[in-house]
Amino acid sequence: LVYSFINSISKTIDMEELQNIVLDITSDSFDADEVDIVLPKSEGDFRIVTRSVSGEKKPRVELAPDGTVAVAIKRWLSGQLKEQEISPERDEIFLPIEKGDHRLALLIVRCCRRPFREERLALLGAISNHIAIAFENARLYRIAITDDLTGLFTVRYFRTCLERSQANFDRYGEKFALLMMDIDDFKIINDTYGHVAGDEVLRKVAACILDSIRIMDLGFRYGGEEFTLILHSTGVHGGRYVAERIRESVAAAEVMVNDSQIKFTISIGISVCPENVLTVKELMLEADKALYVAKRSGKNRVVLSSRITEAAQTREEPSAVSDSAKLEILQ
Ligand code: GH3
Ligand code: MG
Ligand code: MG
Repeated sequence: LVYSFINSISKTIDMEELQNIVLDITSDSFDADEVDIVLPKSEGDFRIVTRSVSGEKKPRVELAPDGTVAVAIKRWLSGQLKEQEISPERDEIFLPIEKGDHRLALLIVRCCRRPFREERLALLGAISNHIAIAFENARLYRIAITDDLTGLFTVRYFRTCLERSQANFDRYGEKFALLMMDIDDFKIINDTYGHVAGDEVLRKVAACILDSIRIMDLGFRYGGEEFTLILHSTGVHGGRYVAERIRESVAAAEVMVNDSQIKFTISIGISVCPENVLTVKELMLEADKALYVAKRSGKNRVVLSSRITEAAQTREEPSAVSDSAKLEILQ
């Protein structure tokens, strides 16, 4: 059991995937009714993902303020829960996952049907260091692919993801859209309000992008004030719908610096595989061209690549963003 546990968790460095694996094998190995992973967010804050025996992994919402879980989390966050503990009823185990100074996660295994046996506790003790290593690797990997300023993914990870999307298209025919975005007249913002204010605008635009996409979609900082977005299973209409939503959200946003209100806009170029092109290289070129057209024609606008592949030409195109396009992107 220890071997298979270690083998499974060392298979991935992706944080989401690791959480799924730990939830899965912990529920199975401990015959648990429920497993929680508590993950630290910012200072004193946390989020919980849960897997119950009957259901899928989901975020946990309500927590009784004086319940055993809330109390354990409070103690863990303040550094008082450092070793594995079991509740007096022997129905809950709390396992802090830590590496050096880093509080990585708190694993809570719950079994209401019968008390945990000693050997199960020993098993958790034996694997806790391996879980910590896996979480630490995933944390470091996450830092390596994340842009410090905006919290979006880096350009290097963008290339990896594009290749992955291309492979998914080649193998399974899964369409995807690429959005290239560039803040309008950003140099003027820097020159007028300074680079610190410029950085604040970059953060705000990144937040607008993240708020406008689904959890499975990926947003990247491509360069200085340029961003890209990969939308899975999304065609022309879905791509345009999301792009328009981002454009509007950015145009409505503002940043306040020393009582000055800074307003800003963004231009967006879109290309879609397979409607516009069939390869990643062309997808980049087409999105870039569309972005250039958006800039040339007045900025603060969304432009779709004008190229159409032969296969797409034979299909009929709806003229506006339909409800089915909204559905496509919201699903
Ligand atoms: P356009 O509307 O044509 O896109 O014009 P623009 O002024 O946005 O484009 P340009 O490429 O001339 O200027 C981009 C500016 O972005 C210049 C550069 O100093 C600034 N920049 C790049 N990275 C950062 C950053 O991390 N922080 C800040 N504050 N500015 C940055
Ligand atoms: Mg630029
Ligand atoms: Mg610009």
